[in-house]
Amino acid sequence: MNTLKFKIATPEKVVYENEIFQVSIPTTTGEITILPNHSPLVSILQAGELRFKDNEGEHLMAVSGGFLEIRANNELIILADNAERAEHIDIDRAEEARNRAEEQMKAVKTGEDIDYAKLQAIIEREVNRMRVGKKYKNIKINS
Ligand code: ATP
Repeated sequence: MNTLKFKIATPEKVVYENEIFQVSIPTTTGEITILPNHSPLVSILQAGELRFKDNEGEHLMAVSGGFLEIRANNELIILADNAERAEHIDIDRAEEARNRAEEQMKAVKTGEDIDYAKLQAIIEREVNRMRVGKKYKNIKINS
């Protein structure tokens, strides 16, 4: 079967690297689905859910920020600010991180010097982690 060489890395580590059949990626212009032999493309990632199929089945990941590049040699590389496989997501940790960011955001109103956009991006990242983590749990319970 026709496959695509896929690698997804963060500044910390390579999260996944293998041959896949297809992948759906959240980008700033909407979700795109990439199949083997796609034409070259560069696009920007948005916080969301990434799904891909390899010879073990379908996998789910939470990603936020970064970019993707499809090269002419049937290779897809994603450099993400954050990427976690759904089965590794700690939902409580994400919820705590979101609550902390929300608390800090409240302080903005009382005149403290806080980077509002950065906090918003953190909240978006943690809410996305929670959503993907919960979706994975539900799939596991129902399958
Ligand atoms: P904290 O929850 O401590 O506030 P953080 O949001 O500051 O964490 P990041 O800088 O986003 O953490 O990520 C640090 C590392 O921890 C990365 O490898 C990231 O994939 C992982 N990570 C962060 N949050 C979670 C989570 N809820 N579940 C699993 N892995 C996580």
